[in-house]
Formats: sequence, C-alpha cells, structure tokens
Amino acid sequence: MSTAGFQFDNSYARELEGFYVPWKGAEVPAPRMIRFNEPLADELGLDGAALDSDAGAAIFAGHKAPDGAEPLAMAYAGHQFGGFSPQLGDGRALLLGEVIDINGQRRDIHLKGSGRTPFSRGGDGKAVLGPVLREYIIGEAMHALGVPTTRALAAVATGEQIMRQDGPEPGAVLARVASSHLRVGTFQFFAARGETERLRQLADYAIARHYPELSGQRDRYLGLLKAVRDRQAALIAKWMLVGFVHGVMNTDNMTISGETIDYGPCAFIDGYDPATVFSSIDQHGRYAYGNQPKIAQWNLARLAETLLDLINPDDSDEAVRQAGEVVNGFPLAYERAWLSGMRAKLGLVGEEAGDMDLATGLLAVLETQNADYTRVFRSLSAAASGEVEATRSLLANPAGVDVWLPLWQARLQRETAAAEERRAQMNRVNPVYVPRNHMVEAALASATKGDLGPFERLLEVLADPFTERPGLEVFALGAPSDFGPYTTYCGT
Ligand code: AMP
Ligand code: MG
Repeated sequence: MSTAGFQFDNSYARELEGFYVPWKGAEVPAPRMIRFNEPLADELGLDGAALDSDAGAAIFAGHKAPDGAEPLAMAYAGHQFGGFSPQLGDGRALLLGEVIDINGQRRDIHLKGSGRTPFSRGGDGKAVLGPVLREYIIGEAMHALGVPTTRALAAVATGEQIMRQDGPEPGAVLARVASSHLRVGTFQFFAARGETERLRQLADYAIARHYPELSGQRDRYLGLLKAVRDRQAALIAKWMLVGFVHGVMNTDNMTISGETIDYGPCAFIDGYDPATVFSSIDQHGRYAYGNQPKIAQWNLARLAETLLDLINPDDSDEAVRQAGEVVNGFPLAYERAWLSGMRAKLGLVGEEAGDMDLATGLLAVLETQNADYTRVFRSLSAAASGEVEATRSLLANPAGVDVWLPLWQARLQRETAAAEERRAQMNRVNPVYVPRNHMVEAALASATKGDLGPFERLLEVLADPFTERPGLEVFALGAPSDFGPYTTYCGT
C-alpha cells in the first residue's frame, strides 16, 4: 500500500506509552468511499486523488492501515450524565496517526466505527451510515460557521449490515480530523487511578501540543486549566450564538483543545427556547441548549480536580483555592465571549454598558414567541436600516419586537459604521443556512436508501452559510409544521 501522501508523525503513540492500546481496525467485506473531503485532504497534505478510491476506502474503514500509521485505541474515563465511569476509552474508534498539515498544525486522523477494541465493553465497535453522515454534515457546517470543531475527512461504507434498534442498517466508518483527541476524560482516567506521574506527562503533552506558550512555566498546570477554561468558554459561546445543542456534554466529549467533538444527538434550534433538548435520553434537560454554559463549567471543575496534585503538590488546600478561582472565572470568560459575539450579531462595534440588556431583551421576546432564532438574526441586517417588516413577520405577535427595535435602532445611532458596511458585517456573522433538523433528516433518509443527492446538496449549501443564494430559499426556512417535535438518539 502506497502512503498516499501520509507523512505520519505519531507523537501520542511515541510519547504516551501506557495511555492507549495499539490496535487494528476490523476487516470488513466491501469498503466503499461514500464521501471524501478533498479540500480537507489538500489541507492535510494528502494525495486526494489517490485516496478518493477503493484503496482510500480500505484505509478509512480501518481495514488496511497505510504505511507509517500506528493505530491505537485511547484510554479515557468520563462523567456521563453526571455519573462517573472510570473506564470508557475508544470502544469503536482508533487514532490512525497524526500528520502535520500545510499550515504546520498537528492533526489527528481518527476512525469512528472501525470495530471492537479492548474498550468496547458490550458494544459492537461499529457505526452505521445515518449517524456517520450526520456527523459529517454537522461537523462541516460548524466549521463553515466558524466554530472550532473536528472535521470529516471521509465517510466509508463497509458492506456490512449492523443491527440497531430498528433493524439492520448499513455499516459505515467516519474518518475525522481533530487538533487532538485529548479529553477531560483522558485526565480523569489517570486521576481516578491516582497516577500522578502519568497525569504530569499528559498535562505536559497537552501543554506542548495546544498551549506551548505555557511550556516550562512553573505554574503551568494552573495555566493549563485557565487556558482550557478560556477556550471552552469561547467555544460554548459560539455554540450558543449559532443555536447549537451538543446533546451529550459528558466529560469524555469535552476536548482540551477547545474543539467541538463527538456529534451524537446534537441539533440546531429552530424556535428560540433555552429549554430545548433533542436527545431521547436527556430526560431531565441536563444538556438543554440554555444549560450548556453551566455544564461546561461543571466539566471544567472535573478537569480541575484531576490537576490538583500538579498545581500544588505540597498544599492541597491552596491547590483547591487556586483551581477554584479559575473555575469560578468561567461565567465571566463565557459572558465576555458571548457578548462580543452578540454585539457583532447586532451590528455593534462599540461597547456600551447596556448592550447585555439589549441582547437579552431581544432573546426574551424571541422566547415568548418561540421565534426562529436564525431567521430573526439574519433579518436584522435589513432592520438596522429601517426595513423592519421581515423581522416583524417572523414573530406571531410583533408587539414585543416593536418595543425592542426602536431601542436597538437608537443604540445603532451611536455607532459610526456606514449602513452598507454594517449590513455586510452583520451578514458575515448571522448565517442564512444552518443544518436544520428536517433538512438533515431528509438528506439522511435518502442516503440510507442509496440516493446521496440531497446529502451532497445540503453539504454544498452549508459550506457557505453566510451568502444568500437564489434557488436555496427552502434551506433557509424553519421546519414545516408537520415535522413535529424532533428527537435524536445516542449510541448509534
Ligand atoms: P459516545 O456516546 O459516542 O461519546 O461514546 C461513549 C462511549 O461508548 C465511548 O467509550 C465509546 O467508545 C463507546 N461506544 C459508543 N458506541 C459504541 C459501540 N457501538 N461499540 C463499542 N463502544 C461504543
Ligand atoms: Mg464520546
């Protein structure tokens, strides 16, 4: 097997022995490329033409490792819905290896659905086509929306039929790319075993890889916690600003890099409601849209606990105090990131003390009306110039927004940007197209029946979410009224 451009440099395998199990993907009957992400392959310095092939399908199915790959299953633990599991790990995934991309960034190439591993517990180690394509769509959409995320490199069908709740489904593997797969749960795995030296090794590795400016500093472990806090705060702010609900913010699904990872029962909100939950198993709304900042802070506290011995080995009270201070700083870090993004959405460049109230005032109006979050914000670029009808028409009862609009317009008077410039700026941050649940479901239903047309079309639309294009009106609309409440499923 030629290397197809892979120049692996596997730092995790090399530097973190004992943090993983070397493993091989399962052989599968008929690996076939379903979708290959050529631009991403180019970015990774891979030979796209060689990989968009049966040989590439065999690699990304985990069926045949390319030269230089050192596939391994990573060990991690995690709090799932608040309860701690000391051992999760890659139960159906493998880190194939790392490459340095054309920008000099180290990226993991990872397979999801590549067969059983020592961490599989009762699971079959497999993934099926619908959820694989779902992760493909949402991850690529998030990337185009400017949200840090893992990305889809390839979706491969395996030729197997896999048993799931509703019967057999086509087997598939997702090859995804991440700036790393270090999770809060990776730290928890070693902390739960009291392996302080391993934790130090892991923390130093994470620092070198993601926060190199901290390398060698004496208080670098506290620095790491702070840096992760700020990245996570910025990430969750972006989720909230685009209306994204992750759905399973377990600590094994929170990266140290601050990228979104593990798209399971995630979805975008249509109508604005902080209580929105899509996941079938999230019965208490732990991971509801509006709860995400709080949960991120809770998860950060779990990371903090794992770092206490490193932060101050001699004085545990002092370590708790210092780490606590960092964790308590999460709400402020989050609010800053959110408000800065919200100002941009509202066309504000200057900063005024009343801006937070202005923003929450609009959200309160949207909530009472369950108004379409994405469409209302997009309509504001016209409303900023006095064309308010589109905005008003998105609210069943416009009385609330009729009070809010003049307050906002008065605030805009104190801005200096020219109207045209403001409209363009607002349209660069308020998307027209997001992966709406009914569109995603329709694309996946066709794909599972063998027609990839709607999936391809949706990907194309979502690749450029901020530019309104003629002929794509239907992609900008909310769900039809007969779509009903939307439910997503875990463990698919
Ligand atoms: P997730 O909900 O995808 O974040 O996965 C949580 C844990 O369950 C991880 O340790 C996964 O590796 C494991 N897991 C999920 N699905 C499967 C499966 N089909 N077979 C084996 N392990 C799985
Ligand atoms: Mg996971």
